[in-house]
Amino acid sequence: MKKNLCLLISFIFIISLNGCSNGKNKYYEKSNIVMDTAVTLSAYGANSKEAVEESFKRLDEINDMASTTIETSDIYKINSLSGKEYVKVHPEIIKMIQTSIKYSKLSNGAFDVTLGPIINLWGIGTDNERLPSDEEIKSKLPLVDYEKISINENDNSVMLKDEGMAIDLGGVAKGFAADEVLKIYKKYNIENGLINLGASSIYALGKNKDKRDWSVGIKHPRSEDPNEYLGVIKLSDESLSTSGDYERYFIKDNKRYHHIIDPKTGYPVDNGVISDTIVVDGDNPDNGMLADILTTTVFTLGQEKGLKLINGLSGVSCEITTANYKVYASDGFKDRITDINKDFKFTD
Ligand code: ADP
Ligand code: MG
Repeated sequence: MKKNLCLLISFIFIISLNGCSNGKNKYYEKSNIVMDTAVTLSAYGANSKEAVEESFKRLDEINDMASTTIETSDIYKINSLSGKEYVKVHPEIIKMIQTSIKYSKLSNGAFDVTLGPIINLWGIGTDNERLPSDEEIKSKLPLVDYEKISINENDNSVMLKDEGMAIDLGGVAKGFAADEVLKIYKKYNIENGLINLGASSIYALGKNKDKRDWSVGIKHPRSEDPNEYLGVIKLSDESLSTSGDYERYFIKDNKRYHHIIDPKTGYPVDNGVISDTIVVDGDNPDNGMLADILTTTVFTLGQEKGLKLINGLSGVSCEITTANYKVYASDGFKDRITDINKDFKFTD
């Protein structure tokens, strides 16, 4: 687990503000580290506390089935039995894998959940991060192939066809988890709130306490100051996801090695993109999962192919920032951003 996240573990707080606690609008907020991520859930409503508490339990359940390191998780079992046996898994795992495969096909393999062997080699964001040799990467690359995931829908079982293959849901599980939290919010009739699973997956439900759209800052990809933004976007009943090369990385000989891997090369994506942000309309089923998958996909595709992909999807928009601080936006996205940082230049 990343070092600074370890420090944050002790930082668990619960605020129950009573300023607007006239029953119907009771505010409840809680933060904790789940899935290696600082998660903050807030909600307004008579059952806000129940909704938030149940959501954190659900996040633990998802982590317990999707983790690559917990030995009892579905993913750990699939990976340990690769090339050998089908493993019966939760339907949630089937859904995450099937949706991932759909976007692997759509992106010609830019997104691939079978990157596990390569991700393990690099260990980026763990205590074992290192620069592997070319030979090591080449020896693992043939194990990366989403077409070799076999799913038996009759009994919810999954098998990876070749021994040594491994699934890693790091680019999809947080988005899926945000969708699950939203379902719990809806069950408790929460109409306003913010679901924040780090920058990876944010869902803004309804309006903020001032009855306005939620304002969410898009992180400045190169600033050390967490409060310095590329710009601010207003959201209501929408998902937002950001991927960046600054989230998990190490620098060796002046080169940045980060956690988004090109499945074609086995190396961190090196196409000039340093961050990208996707917004998906809340009407879109599985919008959180979609936003999460698409940020990683667009990052890997680069600005030209990435924009083409996004402009072809309905209810989805994006911005892509490159190393020269140019920002490429899909149709209509720029108009939604305010407080644009002067470091950046939007291009058409
Ligand atoms: P975050 O973890 O901050 O949400 P992303 O959504 O960009 O970051 O997902 C990156 C994670 O997805 C990596 O840590 C890794 O587990 C996995 N991953 C990296 N590259 C790819 C890829 N090309 N396709 C699918 N998953 C990837
Ligand atoms: Mg993500």
